[in-house]
Amino acid sequence: MIPQDTIAKIFDTSDIVEVISDFVNLKKSGANFKGLSPFSNEKTPSFMVSPGKRIFKDFSSGKGGNVVTFLMEHEHLSYPEALKWLAKKYNIEIQEEAPSDEQLEEKNKREGLFLAHQFANDFFTKQLNETDEGQSIGLSYFKKRGYHKQTIENFNLGYSPEKWNALAEKAANEKYNLDALVEAGIVKKNEKGYYDFFRGRVIFPIQNLTGRIIGFGARTLRTDKNVAKYFNSPESSIYNKSQVLYGLYQSKNQIIKDDICYLVEGYTDVISLHHNGVKNVVASSGTSLTEGQIRLIKRFTNNIVILYDGDAAGISASFRGVDMILKEGLNVKIILFPDGEDPDSYAHKLEQEEFQKFLKENQEDFITFKSNQLLEKSKNDPISISNTINDIITTIAVIPDPVSRSVYIKSTSQKFQLDEQLLINEVQKKLKSKFSSNTTSFNTPISQPQTLVPKKGFEKGIKHKLDNQEKDLIRLMVSYGAKSIPIEIQNENGEKTEEEYPLAQFIIEEILTDNLSYTNSKFQQIFNEYVDGLENGLLVNDQHFIQQPDLTSLIVDLTTSENILSHNWIDKHHIQTRTESKRLKQAAVESVFIYKLRVTENLILEKQELLKTTENKREERGILEEIQELIKVRNIFAGELGITITQ
Ligand code: ATP
Ligand code: MN
Repeated sequence: MIPQDTIAKIFDTSDIVEVISDFVNLKKSGANFKGLSPFSNEKTPSFMVSPGKRIFKDFSSGKGGNVVTFLMEHEHLSYPEALKWLAKKYNIEIQEEAPSDEQLEEKNKREGLFLAHQFANDFFTKQLNETDEGQSIGLSYFKKRGYHKQTIENFNLGYSPEKWNALAEKAANEKYNLDALVEAGIVKKNEKGYYDFFRGRVIFPIQNLTGRIIGFGARTLRTDKNVAKYFNSPESSIYNKSQVLYGLYQSKNQIIKDDICYLVEGYTDVISLHHNGVKNVVASSGTSLTEGQIRLIKRFTNNIVILYDGDAAGISASFRGVDMILKEGLNVKIILFPDGEDPDSYAHKLEQEEFQKFLKENQEDFITFKSNQLLEKSKNDPISISNTINDIITTIAVIPDPVSRSVYIKSTSQKFQLDEQLLINEVQKKLKSKFSSNTTSFNTPISQPQTLVPKKGFEKGIKHKLDNQEKDLIRLMVSYGAKSIPIEIQNENGEKTEEEYPLAQFIIEEILTDNLSYTNSKFQQIFNEYVDGLENGLLVNDQHFIQQPDLTSLIVDLTTSENILSHNWIDKHHIQTRTESKRLKQAAVESVFIYKLRVTENLILEKQELLKTTENKREERGILEEIQELIKVRNIFAGELGITITQ
């Protein structure tokens, strides 16, 4: 545990420009620094570092964050590792805190689980290699599958004997703590006693990134269809299935080297590919692919190639995988195997060179893959073609990077001989409906605050989503919270004076007065921290949030836009001018009022719903009165915004 004040000191001392300059050639550009993206291949610089905001933003890959997140992304470090890296650079001493009792207990429990897996695996590998049963059953099975000694060792493969309780007995004899083995699901208990869950199976241990064993997959050697082919460990505090990839420990170096990661279905595919000289391969074994697993791969490469069998299940899994991978901003290709083959079987069928050639030459981009699959049966049927195009457009719309989107649009237009502009419009439509509800443009520079809130964006009688408006308020607070805006204040004598007020305080008071709370929990968290700060007489700024690991990327997204690369209106004019503070005020007032307008409209709709189910006349009258009141309030807000609402 690195103490909080040491973390703060590391952040304070670290110079983001100096640190990033160790890796990227940066040139000064206005208030910022620019360089070529270290996360993608580009010719014109779109990587930006702001020494003022102490953030970086890479517009080509979409990555952004503080000095610590940069090291985490670029050097593949964990959070504490990145902090230690900086502490070393800046000669800051880290005296680690003693953990609390609870932390110790949790740590001991996790350590116990790690040890239980290691204990079991030592037993399984010994059984496989050194006993008659292990050799004649387990080892001969692996040999039959074509695995060499080296591969078996490399993946720590093992064998659990047929005997009911071989492992449980050994643990008891050696006075080994059985609880941890039970907790890990390796040993089970019934009325007759403890028994081995994986008995009579070959064992595939699952390792985490540091190589420690956290779970097992176990394959039966029977051909009986009634026996489940694989048994898998349950989740535990050290094994979160959605965050683990089988084979990543053995493959990660090669993934970095080749800058590509092959994704297969299971244990046997990973091992067979390794065996056949392809060592950059992982499996999402035991679950279908998750976001967490994709992000795990993203720490090592941006390029994923999916290798699934060509059967219906494999193809539909590939479709799901493609969309998820694109959505996370990675590149994806697909390789389909000939009928009846899977990566495992095909790796054994072909010689090493032939197989590697096959992998290189059979990668399809998702447009070709999807159109081949979807059009297979009905090539000339116009409805089927239009469904396919629609499916491809939907997929293109999930890609976060606009440049990649346009590349894929171009290739779709060529493939189907369609007008490119038409496709662009269709993708735009999908994007709009995705970010729907009268979108406010978050990255609009403050020089045009009047366009922040589209006046026509209010419709009566529909339930408004509040997310975007909440985001806009938070964006204003984080970007311009400390700037002052003129506010009219009435004193006791009824005289009006104008006072300068920090923008964040204005927004906070407006929200608190009406007792509103945000629907989005991250926004509410940020808002609460502003309120806490103000209660202590202090206005928190963007730095306060940028240092919090779970908020960094959100804050960077809220406070940067491509415009920063060319100019930043507010930073250029160091002195805050009168016009600027008026503009800021207009932006804040509009944002607050449109938010309240929508909240009120939602309340009106809720009350109207309630009215439908009320039978009691008196209650009905009460609700009607409330609705009347709310309508008045709504119209006041609308009036402030210059919107007329016809009844
Ligand atoms: P076979 O020898 O019959 O081909 P297999 O062990 O190769 O069997 P497959 O049924 O071909 O297994 O499955 C393909 C991949 O999916 C394998 O790598 C396997 O490890 C993995 N797999 C299959 N079922 C499960 C399961 N229930 N849990 C985890 N992984 C599984
Ligand atoms: Mn198989």
